[in-house]
Amino acid sequence: MRVLCRHCNEVAKVVASREETAGLRTVYVTCAACGSKQVWQLSYCHDTRPPAVDWAKAAVEVLEKLSAEDRRRVLARFEGARQPLLMGTE
Ligand SMILES: [Zn+2]
Repeated sequence: MRVLCRHCNEVAKVVASREETAGLRTVYVTCAACGSKQVWQLSYCHDTRPPAVDWAKAAVEVLEKLSAEDRRRVLARFEGARQPLLMGTE
């Protein structure tokens, strides 16, 4: 992480940090150019794209809620899509 000094706009060095809560971190910074020491806070705001692994997990959770027959029908749709690829490799 790069922090620019609030006083002289030079790159300041992060010397320590502490997690306050999940999503909030206090960052201690020292600027060698002007000698100031600053305390910053870095906070999580929001996702612009959810992690890909969450989609797989969500899909499994949905599949688990389906009846056995509905689950078979959904999975069969994707198995059918794979068939032409398998046939082409033979
Ligand atoms: Zn400075």
